[in-house]
Amino acid sequence: MTIPAPPENADTLPPYPVGLRLAGRRVVVVGGGGVAQRRVPHLIAAGAVVEVVSPVLTPALEGMIGEFTWHDRRYAPGDLDGAWYALALTDDAEVNAAICAEAEERRVFCVRADDASEATAWTPATGRHAGVTVAVLANRDPRTSSTVRDEILEVLREGRIGLNHGRRRSPGVVLVGGGPGDPELITVAGRRALMEADVVVADRLAPRELLGELPPHVELIDVAKLPRGRSASQEEINRVIVEKALEGKVVARFKGGDNFVFGRGFEEILACREAGVPVTVIPGVTSPIAVPGVTGLPITHRGVAHEFTVISGHLPPGHPESLTDWDAVARMTGTLVLMMAVQNAPVIAERLVGGGRAPSTPVAIVCDGTMPGQRTVLSTLATVADDLEREQVRPPAIIVVGDVVAVAHPERFA
Ligand code: SAH
Repeated sequence: MTIPAPPENADTLPPYPVGLRLAGRRVVVVGGGGVAQRRVPHLIAAGAVVEVVSPVLTPALEGMIGEFTWHDRRYAPGDLDGAWYALALTDDAEVNAAICAEAEERRVFCVRADDASEATAWTPATGRHAGVTVAVLANRDPRTSSTVRDEILEVLREGRIGLNHGRRRSPGVVLVGGGPGDPELITVAGRRALMEADVVVADRLAPRELLGELPPHVELIDVAKLPRGRSASQEEINRVIVEKALEGKVVARFKGGDNFVFGRGFEEILACREAGVPVTVIPGVTSPIAVPGVTGLPITHRGVAHEFTVISGHLPPGHPESLTDWDAVARMTGTLVLMMAVQNAPVIAERLVGGGRAPSTPVAIVCDGTMPGQRTVLSTLATVADDLEREQVRPPAIIVVGDVVAVAHPERFA
């Protein structure tokens, strides 16, 4: 069989796109620098049997040893024996050329980091969303490829192209944590679940702006507008989500933060289980950690706080229904994060001081965290009652008590 020479215009012809199924197949990566660091995780994710040949590895690649085999040496002819695919990623053009030559001889497709025109394969800019792989090759211009890739992924994430999700679209309830308020702080999975739902049951603290992006056919049920009466309304929510799911709909139960952090999420799970409705959970970025975090206030700091405790302050200390041992809390030295505590903060502060915490213990109150009106009020256990009053603090607010506040605000607590 004779092999014709490649056509003169070979360089201008388009590549032939293909998805390699590499599971269990040997792939040889020569080079252990930045390019290899970006490629190897994708090869591992595809199930390839990856061998890296390089006398040096980046620290990130070193951390992945075990997921690939490392040959701690330079490339030697014969390395591509048995390979299905090869990547010439060294910073030495001659070595890369030698690897490509061996690949050519063995009929192994080979990418080349330094000179795409000499390679037999090109790596597209890739991304995945909801089981769809996007791969873009833009005429060897990596910047264009990644821009196009990002645009396509954005369209998919926003649900502007309807994807047929099969399993994911089966009826049931999904608890979606919306994050602390900024619509950018929902997770990728949470946003997708929201956009794919038939019915969204939303709380007052759930990020409102995201609701404006829902496709027009989605039924939006605003819990704040359900029939009143405190516990009756939770029962009503349970009833609504179960009923809609039994009608065959995909129901997203959408709340601020995380549904299991003072969110009654598990009550909804129990209601669904009782009715035989399948439930899944998408965790959210929770406010006791995220709200201080965005202001630059860490809830742990080495040498300062070895613990953090999140407490609901909706009941005052000593209330017959309170489950909190405030004496034990007062003895702790770490960070306290109080939620739903604006009203009871004065009595809580008094109780903590009474239990032994220093009156000078720093306090930070962050109101409307991650939202347009965000503000921080700095105080101490001794003065927090006055400061809340004077600054007219209103919920929602996160109150952080402990020395981490002084770490974040040394100018105030010198
Ligand atoms: N499930 C939510 C918390 C619900 S309880 C979560 O995981 O974050 C409601 C309390 O959360 C509020 O009283 C307040 O203490 C706190 N909170 C929620 N979002 C907040 C925000 N953006 N800023 C300040 N506090 C917030």
